[in-house]
Amino acid sequence: MNITGHTRLGGLLGSPVSHSISPMMHNDSFQQLGLDFAYLCFDVKPDRLKEAVSGLRTMNTYGFNLTMPDKEAVLPYLDELSLEAQLVGAVNTVKNENGRLIGYNTDGLGYLKSVEEAGCHIVGKEMTLLGAGGAACAIAAQAAISGVAKLHLVSRRGRSWDKAKKLVSDINQRTGCQTDLIDLADRKGLKKALESSLLLTNATSAGMAPDTNLTPLEDVSLLHPDLIVSDVIYNPRQTRLLQEAAALGCQTFNGMYMLLYQGAAAFRIWTGQDMPVELIRSRYFKN
Ligand code: NAP
Repeated sequence: MNITGHTRLGGLLGSPVSHSISPMMHNDSFQQLGLDFAYLCFDVKPDRLKEAVSGLRTMNTYGFNLTMPDKEAVLPYLDELSLEAQLVGAVNTVKNENGRLIGYNTDGLGYLKSVEEAGCHIVGKEMTLLGAGGAACAIAAQAAISGVAKLHLVSRRGRSWDKAKKLVSDINQRTGCQTDLIDLADRKGLKKALESSLLLTNATSAGMAPDTNLTPLEDVSLLHPDLIVSDVIYNPRQTRLLQEAAALGCQTFNGMYMLLYQGAAAFRIWTGQDMPVELIRSRYFKN
């Protein structure tokens, strides 16, 4: 990489961040397209986020990404939020437009692009989404904005339940998508939702390594072979849910390309150009 006096900086804020694949994905893409941009990781916890964001604004960075635990904590320091970021209440991408910081959430767009790539046309159709944490809310908001006709959000009555209720009400008020909230323990409600859905998405953390024996859906008899079943988890590549669904004849896919495409969407926001995804996928996203 050729750093010059004109090079513009951006990067990832969060804690921890050193494991992230984002620097490779973005720096390689900048180089391929001849863009004089650079991307670094900064380990910043929420109690120092205000100063970090103020510094990035002042230093004319092109923008930055946020990961846990900074995705929600950054909201008070931004000037504007896109619709999906308003609905989710969390931001993973910020664009610096001449000192004005605009927050976006590209996780949902990344997921929907991976759905499209799996050959699933979900616009105008019905889907069931398990979970109500950060990933689930981002997918729900973007699915509603992008034209999914009906969305069933399924959550256990735990930590995220109240947040899920608010999200469902906001989506119904602010988008054309009909959304309802189903208790994960409500077998009848879940069965009905799955019968009319084209796509089931696990956006809970159940099944993620090291707890690979877990599944968010203990009763696999609720699945049917016409259902496309996906998981936002990519470690392991095939969760217990995906294994069980595949055994029943369902088409399945994991969260690997969601990760790729959320980055590609951020890249487009910063540069106005398309990331060379084929190359980046072959180098860093072996599925
Ligand atoms: P989070 O905010 O902690 O939310 C986790 C959600 O899962 C909560 O709704 C939680 O319910 C629910 N949950 C956990 N264990 C469960 C179980 N056994 N049964 C039912 N529900 C359960 O986490 P997150 O940030 O949304 O991340 C969720 C998963 O998505 C993680 O595995 C993460 O690695 C993955 N992810 C992937 C990508 C990608 O690019 N592929 C991007 C983001 C996240 P309670 O609130 O009741 O605990």
